[in-house]
Amino acid sequence: MREDSVASFWETVARGGRDECWPWLGALQKKGYGACTDLLETSLSHRAVWLITHPGVKLTRADVVRHTCDNPPCCNPAHLRLGTYLENSQDMVQKGRSRNGENHYLTTLTAAEVRAIVAECKPDKSNWGEVVSRRGITRHWLARLMRGAIWRHVTGIKPVKLEEPLVSNCPRCGKEVVRRTLHAKAYCSQNCQQVHWKQRAAQQRRQQEAPAVTVLQAARRSEPKQAAPREGRVAG
Ligand SMILES: [Zn+2]
Ligand SMILES: [Zn+2]
Repeated sequence: MREDSVASFWETVARGGRDECWPWLGALQKKGYGACTDLLETSLSHRAVWLITHPGVKLTRADVVRHTCDNPPCCNPAHLRLGTYLENSQDMVQKGRSRNGENHYLTTLTAAEVRAIVAECKPDKSNWGEVVSRRGITRHWLARLMRGAIWRHVTGIKPVKLEEPLVSNCPRCGKEVVRRTLHAKAYCSQNCQQVHWKQRAAQQRRQQEAPAVTVLQAARRSEPKQAAPREGRVAG
């Protein structure tokens, strides 16, 4: 690590008092951490600060430099602690920043609504179709809710564990997939699933378009053949 690169690094930090946050003045990456140039084997400014202030220390991918101030662009060495991913996520859950249930960015439902949905769904699934259309949710989402795949902390529904793990083959590549719960994924990877779905969707589209294509081809075939006008031949 060269002295001048360290000096230029600190020029991009608004250094303040010992207890203040020192925000990164350069670009931020999408999670709000400072994005620095890759001089110090990291492009995150707070990790770079850790490396600068702990010469000779190497950071592995498992090491997480945590902010005690919860301020991602902060570069004050006094606000940084070294931890693991597990500690970091436990910290996040404790501080109520985990992204599930009402905190999840995709949801429009509240915990109370989810509880109401679970309460009105009959176990034999006889009224699920009605619930789906009245609540404006999808059948797939409801099925996931009722088997404990989502909102588990609100509903208390536990996914059914299989006594014997189920071994099946990936529908796309045929690789063996071990399922430990009944509804676990059937594909070996997300990539396989997405590729397979795309292929199936394309196949369905072709089948839907097939009649139209044959009608068009038949119409073209029944058209009287016209002599192609040749160049150099003038009509009349
Ligand atoms: Zn701070
Ligand atoms: Zn596969």
